[in-house]
Amino acid sequence: MSSPLALLGGTPSVTTPGPHFAWPPISEQTAKVVTDQLAAGISVYDRSGVIEELEDALADYHGVRYALLTSSGTAALYSMYAGCELGPGMEAIVPAYTFFATVTPLLHLGVVPVLADCDENGNLDPRDVVRRITARTSAIVVTHMWGTPADVATLRAIADEHGLMLLEDGSHAHGASVGGRKVGTFGRASAFSMNGPKPLSAGEGGFLLTDDEEVYYRALLHGQYNKRCRNEIPSEYPLYRYAVTGMGLKHRIHPLAARIGLDQLAHLDEYLDGRARVAAMMNEQLAELPGIVTPKLEPGDRSSWYGLMLQYRGEELGGLPVERLYEALQAEGCWELDRPGSTCPLNLLPLFQEPGPLFPELAGSFAYGPDDFPQAEAFHRSVLKLPVWHREEDMPLVNGYIEAFRKVINNYEGLLG
Ligand SMILES: *Cc1c(COP(=O)(O)O)cnc(C)c1O
Repeated sequence: MSSPLALLGGTPSVTTPGPHFAWPPISEQTAKVVTDQLAAGISVYDRSGVIEELEDALADYHGVRYALLTSSGTAALYSMYAGCELGPGMEAIVPAYTFFATVTPLLHLGVVPVLADCDENGNLDPRDVVRRITARTSAIVVTHMWGTPADVATLRAIADEHGLMLLEDGSHAHGASVGGRKVGTFGRASAFSMNGPKPLSAGEGGFLLTDDEEVYYRALLHGQYNKRCRNEIPSEYPLYRYAVTGMGLKHRIHPLAARIGLDQLAHLDEYLDGRARVAAMMNEQLAELPGIVTPKLEPGDRSSWYGLMLQYRGEELGGLPVERLYEALQAEGCWELDRPGSTCPLNLLPLFQEPGPLFPELAGSFAYGPDDFPQAEAFHRSVLKLPVWHREEDMPLVNGYIEAFRKVINNYEGLLG
């Protein structure tokens, strides 16, 4: 041990100036294509130009019939649920542990969210889903948390057995796959965010995927009124007469964002391959440390490594509180180490405890509270999140972070009491 812990006055392990992680990677090529787009047009009202290019590329990448760009992941989820005709009187089983926007659009449609607990990876637990199916259940919604694919095969079997729709929120997991098949293709439809830090980023934006014509037309009507609806919905389709107004919402993506998304998509597999290499190394090294449990990936699964989620076992370090470990690692210079806050078990948020003041139609239809989802809450309490770098030149920094973990954990006794 060369230096005492930085928290106790020693020298930090990581001395690289910040920021230590920036996403998405922006190149000269990105700048060029955006400048070119400025000249080509910054408003696109139909499926043409960069909108068509990116939708085609996304449909191709995933092997689906339809991709529809939206202004955000939240808008994509909203249009997906509306496109699947979810509405009042229905229940959707959703993960208790997800980003809240997976679920909030359902509230706007009058759908009652039925939360279900997670497994040891933080992903929806199929066993708990089965327990929560009722006569009113219409859909099962799954998020691939932090990029690790959920057990979609089992969820799909449950959905089929009970005549339910399976819907995916792939916002953490662009390019992740199960047995070679991309997430976002396991259900009736899927929605993705392309917000800032997401594996495929456009700065702001989102998209939905489906093979289902009906879902696609209804999603168009939900948020892409007039020109797109008039051009794309066949005149013999019964809802064509609503093409001009649609449902009156507007969820179009900005063409500059679409251009950035297209530029990023061309590199997605290269980014993910780089992340997979770095994650394997990080997992191998960190797994050796007491108190740290690394994420498990099923054989044949590919993660997007949106986050490397470590589970902390304080009992292996004399009961050292996670807050204290976090503080010590921050002091060592691990500024990118995070304890996620807003992505938390939904039962801990006022909106899911008492929806009535904001959604009067849902008053009294559900009321969750602390301790309702023991697995999700335990996962959330003991999680430490690291980013996963993808470039060779980041390796010294990655090694610095691992060294910091080693140093703090090998000297944890100095942090007790
Ligand atoms: C980011 C995110 C969303 C919302 O996407 P926005 O583009 O921010 O609207 C929804 N679900 C999950 C799981 C997310 O991570």
